[in-house]
Amino acid sequence: MTVAYISFGSNMGDRARQITDALAMLNEVRETKVTQVSALYETAPVGGVVQDDFLNGVVEVSTYLSALELLDEIQAIELKLNRVRKIHWGPRTIDLDIVLFGSQVIDSERLKVPHPYMHERSFVLIPLNEIAPYAIHPILNQKVSELVTLDPDVRIYK
Ligand code: ATP
Ligand code: CA
Ligand code: CA
Repeated sequence: MTVAYISFGSNMGDRARQITDALAMLNEVRETKVTQVSALYETAPVGGVVQDDFLNGVVEVSTYLSALELLDEIQAIELKLNRVRKIHWGPRTIDLDIVLFGSQVIDSERLKVPHPYMHERSFVLIPLNEIAPYAIHPILNQKVSELVTLDPDVRIYK
């Protein structure tokens, strides 16, 4: 069994609803259970593009799947939610990324774990630190609590 962390984000449509739906679907994935969910954080978009704020967070799962099998499952969830969204809103209502998969290091075209930018994204590190401060980044060999920094643009969303 592997403990993995998946980051989620949405900035179109009913953001909280889409996140709730995605997490419910994740908990229905075979041989996989959601074991912790962070709070939702509202995050100002980076880089001058005018777009709505994101809701971001991180979920912990325990799974018997491989990392690639888990990627297949989260991409299927994205497709399902994006299909619904495409009808009403347009592209990309939910993004699910594997940020950590146990202590595995994977560097293939389809899957890079740890996620290559997780250690520099406070919208990932702040919610991850909330549920897994002792999780280790297996390349940097640092705990999440050592990687996280304060960021006033990542605000808790009630
Ligand atoms: P970023 O990776 O900077 O967060 P993104 O999430 O917007 O960008 P997407 O368009 O959602 O990028 O995904 C592009 C591809 O990234 C996916 O098709 C997937 O195969 C690949 N990928 C590589 N590593 C991962 C990972 N750890 N989690 C999810 N997808 C990954
Ligand atoms: Ca992403
Ligand atoms: Ca993604």
